Amino acid sequence: MIKIENLRKVFRTEEVETVALNGVSFEVTEGEFIAVMGPSGCGKSTLLNILGLLDNPTSGTYCLAGNEVGHLKESARTQARKGNIGFVFQSFNLIEEMNVFENVELPLVYMRINKAERKRRVEEALYRMNISHRAKHFPNQLSGGQQQRVAIARAIVANPKLILADEPTGNLDSKNGNDVMTLLSELNTEGATIVMVTHSQHDASYSHRIVNLFDGEIVTEVQSRM
Ligand code: ADP
Repeated sequence: MIKIENLRKVFRTEEVETVALNGVSFEVTEGEFIAVMGPSGCGKSTLLNILGLLDNPTSGTYCLAGNEVGHLKESARTQARKGNIGFVFQSFNLIEEMNVFENVELPLVYMRINKAERKRRVEEALYRMNISHRAKHFPNQLSGGQQQRVAIARAIVANPKLILADEPTGNLDSKNGNDVMTLLSELNTEGATIVMVTHSQHDASYSHRIVNLFDGEIVTEVQSRM
């Protein structure tokens, strides 16, 4: 599903040059659950942003579902993301002015799906995340755990093949964190491919394989669970 080869990402400002990724290569097969670990500043978010088509690498190749997508223009990246990639972030990234239903509906609006179909899919995603009873609430009326369940509903509403999660339990207590990890694990069992950045060895234990980064390079890849 994902094949990256020799990815480099260099951030340049007038005075400084930072090599965030320095020749990263790995593959993720369909249905795998990968955890990316490593100390702060080692390039985890940079890697996830490139995998999520939010940014391009400076050099190297990125093949997603058989297509080379590493060097697309921004408009083509946006197009390639739609319906194919779902994101979950540490800080939930919900829109405060929109209620739960509207937040989850947003990817389908961007995809120009008709209203009746949007309603059907949003209700299904909210039900799946056990948050239907909060459809009319706004994000600031929800607990952190509930907000992350809404964010996961938004990530899965378009039925993407790939879910990218950046520290999804980072702002949650252990009970809510475990609930979120159980949901991600279930989505993986149902067929979603997941790449998750995490600091937590516990969260990484839900993955099949742990990719350890250090200073922009992969230092080890270890099997986690079978
Ligand atoms: P991690 O997610 O592992 O903490 P990041 O991928 O955020 O690491 O960052 C890797 C390196 O790239 C760091 O040295 C960071 O300061 C640098 N970096 C990340 N984004 C940018 C940016 N937009 N401009 C300049 N430097 C950046």
